Amino acid sequence: MELIINNLSKTYSNGVAALQDVSLTIPKGMYGLLGPNGAGKSTLMRTIATLQDADEGSIFLGDLNVLENKQELRKVLGYLPQEFGVYPKISAYDMLDHIAVLKGLQSGRKEMVEALLQRVNLWDVRKKALGGFSGGMKQRFGIAQALLGDPKLIIVDEPTAGLDPGERNRFYNLLAEIGENVIVILSTHIVEDVKELCGQMAIIDKGRLLYAGTPDNALHAIKGKIWKKSVAKAEIENIQNNFRLISTRMIAGKPMVHVYNDNAPGNEFESIPGDLEDVFFAHIKGAVEA
Ligand code: ADP
Repeated sequence: MELIINNLSKTYSNGVAALQDVSLTIPKGMYGLLGPNGAGKSTLMRTIATLQDADEGSIFLGDLNVLENKQELRKVLGYLPQEFGVYPKISAYDMLDHIAVLKGLQSGRKEMVEALLQRVNLWDVRKKALGGFSGGMKQRFGIAQALLGDPKLIIVDEPTAGLDPGERNRFYNLLAEIGENVIVILSTHIVEDVKELCGQMAIIDKGRLLYAGTPDNALHAIKGKIWKKSVAKAEIENIQNNFRLISTRMIAGKPMVHVYNDNAPGNEFESIPGDLEDVFFAHIKGAVEA
């Protein structure tokens, strides 16, 4: 089963065009939706999750017309929003059981709640209040609630912001495991998240789709076109005016610029293979044609 998004557009009442004619086909597995803040990721996620309407376009999950059968979609959806509020005084077990009741799960509810707490590795702390959980524990709890009812489509919005590296790794492992059998859409502005997890990806910015495909193909397309140079701060403006500057990173306190150019730009620029971060910046800076 695939999720097929056709020509989706949305303009908010303040005139912001958050989605402009976005079409995507999302297969089973982990799918990375990458874009800077304000790109339109949450708008797209919330539309797929039937929490808000689009102005135009359609979404199909297999045969299911999502925007015309919202209740049906919600039965097979697991959603972990950006801001996941919990009641701080309730225990993990009680909260998960409560959400299971709200989702209408009846037979086998106890077994499912227990199995999920084990699966996300919160069994030992199931009786502890959620208010005392770390960011990583809260995110794993969020995944447990998203998995209630055996969803076919799971949406995870900006999940690793605020996690420390250890927590992030545990969260990656959990997502990778889940992504084997269902469609998991991971929306993020963190390139690393996509690199670690996703077999397919899309890049969006300013409401437009800039790339859709595998990370490998995207890397292949920029091969031989990324050049780096360590410069003084004062030189950056000059480089910006003369080259297609895609990023400036600080390396040991000194700016390292990456530019996009079909052939060697000279001027002591060095060729580098280019990583997914270069792919990302090359697209959002308009160096690569969509
Ligand atoms: P992302 O999740 O990629 O950060 P969003 O979908 O949240 O992007 O936002 C896309 C654009 O739409 C931004 O410019 C944002 O300010 C604007 N936007 C988001 N929600 C609303 C809203 N409810 N009303 C008006 N503008 C909005």
